[in-house]
Amino acid sequence: MNDISRERSSELFEKAQRFFPGGVNSPVRAFKSVYGTPLFIEKGDGCFLWDADGNKFIDFCCSWGPLILGHNHPSVRENVIDAVEKGMSFGAPTALENELAELILTHNRKVEKIRFVSSGTEAVMSAIRLARGYTKRDKILKFEGCYHGHVDSMLVKAGSGLVTFGETSSAGVPKSFADETIVIPLNDRGAVEQAFKQFPDQIAAIIIEGVPANNGLLIQNKEYIQFLRELSTANRSLLIFDEVITGFRLGFEGAAGYYDIQPDITTYGKIIGGGMPVGAYGASAEIMSNISPEGAVYQAGTLSGNPVAMAAGIGQLSELLRPGFYKELNEKTAAFVASVQQYAADKEYQLTVFSIGSLFWFAFTDRNIQKAEDIDPLSMDKFKIFHRELLNRGIYLGPSGYEVGFISSAHTVDTLENAKRAIFESLDVVY
Ligand code: PLP
Repeated sequence: MNDISRERSSELFEKAQRFFPGGVNSPVRAFKSVYGTPLFIEKGDGCFLWDADGNKFIDFCCSWGPLILGHNHPSVRENVIDAVEKGMSFGAPTALENELAELILTHNRKVEKIRFVSSGTEAVMSAIRLARGYTKRDKILKFEGCYHGHVDSMLVKAGSGLVTFGETSSAGVPKSFADETIVIPLNDRGAVEQAFKQFPDQIAAIIIEGVPANNGLLIQNKEYIQFLRELSTANRSLLIFDEVITGFRLGFEGAAGYYDIQPDITTYGKIIGGGMPVGAYGASAEIMSNISPEGAVYQAGTLSGNPVAMAAGIGQLSELLRPGFYKELNEKTAAFVASVQQYAADKEYQLTVFSIGSLFWFAFTDRNIQKAEDIDPLSMDKFKIFHRELLNRGIYLGPSGYEVGFISSAHTVDTLENAKRAIFESLDVVY
């Protein structure tokens, strides 16, 4: 099959190289680990995307997760237009902030108070500061394979030992910052226990993604999450659930609702802003009372609670509260995933489609994977071919085999049928 035309995208990418490092404003967008130049997107509608060359795709990236209603949903669009007509930003409180907060706090029992910020990274950065301020401890325990935005102290990867101080995985992060981060493998109880033994009364918080979804989809057992909850409580450490992907995705109460866990601090991003730059962190009223101006932990933002972004969030989250919304979305995803899995099994292809809620991940293996280290980097060669074949058949997946796919309410059963056919053909080429 011929590759899609990328004439215009290539021209735009060439021009972009003059302006941006690597031609992009976020690294994975550069298509470094797949074939071809990045596609420049012109518009999106429902579950479809069109690129600058007029190619049309079924979109399974959905802006990396925010668009749970698909592109250009009327509730979001109309709210945004109304808000824009009244002004873009005031740097003062608005009723829209109250409205979005009330919508969240009424239907999500995991947080009592929240603070809006402008990205998931900012939410995590603030949550960590809050945990440190509250516990008066400095160290943070994180897991290998969990991404928490580009916060300095979170850009740390594991060494080879069970409990290691991470090396930084970005230039520009002082070693002293990385030293405050302890990195251990997922799904390893002994490693968590050892960390608490090794650093008694020093760990401010354990941070974990609601479901680790940035290094493949590493679905943890509920018992393990409960164990983390109990161990952090026993050690007077906090449990931070980073729900930037899973918040409002696995249900209105995110992974915390899914696992029936009460985290101490929760971070949100992506879906909460309906496609606009919004993040948030929340906790009990008692913990949140430590935030300035009530408490001594400082955090602020010129555009925090921006009215246009709040309006988008209100438009999107209101739709999620429709009875049956998640059931329908999750069932549609489960059926889609099951038939791809069945096709692979019938053909004896080594493929496992991991999935939870409306997230999925194609892993070119027949092993169960719950830890980052279990992913075979060589399997990414297969993903590379798969990605190209999918693009050629009108399917847009994020340009990395470590990234998960997202299904929105705009993906109809018919569209998913078409997508499946393209996936089957692409798998035939890969294998
Ligand atoms: N936390 C998690 C779990 C994420 O997946 C991401 C982004 O993908 C972030 C934090 C950072 O969010 P943002 O890219 O909005 O800064």
